[in-house]
Amino acid sequence: MPQKKCSFCGRSEKDVKLLITGLNGYICEDCAQQAYNIVMQTGALEQGKKEEAFEMKKVPKPKEIKEYLDEYIIGQDEAKRYLSVSVYNHYKRLQQPKDDDGVEIEKSNIIMVGSTGTGKTLLAKTIAKLLDVPFTIVDATVFTEAGYVGEDVESILSRLLQVADYDVAAAERGIVFIDEIDKIARKSDNPSITRDVSGEGVQQGLLKLLEGTMVNVPPKGGRKHPDQDYIHVDTKNILFICGGAFDGIERKIAQRLNTHVVGYNSVQNVAKIDKSDLMKYVLPQDLKSFGLIPEIIGRLPVLTYLNPLDRAALRKILVEPKNSIIKQYIKLFHMDGIELTFTEKALDYIVDKAVEYKLGARGLRSIVEAVMMDAMFDVPSRRIKHFEVTDEYVRKQLDKAHIQKAETN
Ligand code: ADP
Repeated sequence: MPQKKCSFCGRSEKDVKLLITGLNGYICEDCAQQAYNIVMQTGALEQGKKEEAFEMKKVPKPKEIKEYLDEYIIGQDEAKRYLSVSVYNHYKRLQQPKDDDGVEIEKSNIIMVGSTGTGKTLLAKTIAKLLDVPFTIVDATVFTEAGYVGEDVESILSRLLQVADYDVAAAERGIVFIDEIDKIARKSDNPSITRDVSGEGVQQGLLKLLEGTMVNVPPKGGRKHPDQDYIHVDTKNILFICGGAFDGIERKIAQRLNTHVVGYNSVQNVAKIDKSDLMKYVLPQDLKSFGLIPEIIGRLPVLTYLNPLDRAALRKILVEPKNSIIKQYIKLFHMDGIELTFTEKALDYIVDKAVEYKLGARGLRSIVEAVMMDAMFDVPSRRIKHFEVTDEYVRKQLDKAHIQKAETN
């Protein structure tokens, strides 16, 4: 019997680990691997893969998405509802049958407006975790217009590819969170005559990406050789969620609300306006007054807002979310066999300090960290079963940690 050989590389059966038999030939494991790589590179598999990976059944319903978000994020109901619906629709869109009734569901990118530390990033991150899709956070402030020093907007896709392990098909249905989108607003509502490198140019660059376009992304680590192939990424199905604090947008909202008060009906409406929380009246035209170009606003059709966090919300954030800061410390101590508890007063004191130092939800962690540092150092080597944090202890530790100083600096 003739010896079996790989029909591709010619190596014989004894030189390879595995020889797969076909109708008229054989292929060894190395050649099979290479063939697979070639197929992946040409993108021939992408279409099939996309379809098989997505079954609508697996995508949770908006209500379920919201319930999941509730486990991790306190309050922000409005934003959660908007996000849940948009994400659900996004996946429906990926599934839409290719019938020719002329109806095509369009992409619903999202923009969230709310002060820093109110949970915008956390919302986007949590959604991505639930859906198990590649997710990346980029900061709009690092982008500059193509050709200037700084990153091109296309680098967003390099990062998405990286987290997707260079699986182009997966990256193409990922979620990108663009933080600080307000920082690329142009400085005035009027189009500038001089070029605005950091603002308008970047917005222009983002336009196509948001809408859906084929982008050539340099392969790993940037393009080192002119003949190196670019990776082609289609942004048509990538969901973009933008977030920004839009400091001062309340003034624009107030202006708009005031200037539109004409006629009997409007007078009635004005009476109903809740002046303490103008953010909930935010409309696309306020983003325009703030300096986003209309084309960008048009490509971010879902606009929602986040409430500032009050004392009660901060108190809940400390203990209630599924991976709340307190739960994390309890787990840390539990791993050493120690039961960690906090008195109610201790928790109140921590929240008081976060409010006092105007540190918001972000500050909670640094405060608890400062409080727990000594205990984390000592307790594992002591033979105790229980450690209780009281308000007295918190006060003592914070005095020691000089957290106050951080605020005045
Ligand atoms: P933003 O993106 O709005 O500036 P983040 O989402 O990064 O703020 O929030 C900062 C941190 O504060 C989060 O990691 C989270 O621990 C906490 N946090 C903020 N808002 C909430 C919230 N509504 N519920 C639970 N935790 C929150």
